Amino acid sequence: MSIHIDRTACIGCGQCAEICPGTLIRMTDGKAEMRYPKECWGCVSCVKQCPVHAVSLYLGADIGGMGSRMTVKKEGSLLHWTVTHPDQTTETITVDSRDANQY
Ligand code: SF4
Ligand code: SF4
Repeated sequence: MSIHIDRTACIGCGQCAEICPGTLIRMTDGKAEMRYPKECWGCVSCVKQCPVHAVSLYLGADIGGMGSRMTVKKEGSLLHWTVTHPDQTTETITVDSRDANQY
């Protein structure tokens, strides 16, 4: 599992590097860079934290992702999880975080 960082969109705030529990992201030339992709366990903390949605999680073939990437946008208690497929089509699933303990 790993993440993709869109360095063009990155504004260099450093929040993803700060929140990664494995210290896997570093800042270079004022932008975030994934240092150790093989070490990423896909906790999505960095994906959630990025204020400009520049971080996405690669969805591996083992879970049907086949090169798709996932980002998340917060809207109050709602989390909008969007999967972008290689052909650029998208699907969005919305989850209310207030219901998280129901499952
Ligand atoms: S998904 Fe988790 S482990 Fe992977 S880079 Fe982001 S914060 Fe670190
Ligand atoms: S959180 Fe987003 S904008 Fe901030 S450094 Fe990381 S990738 Fe760049």
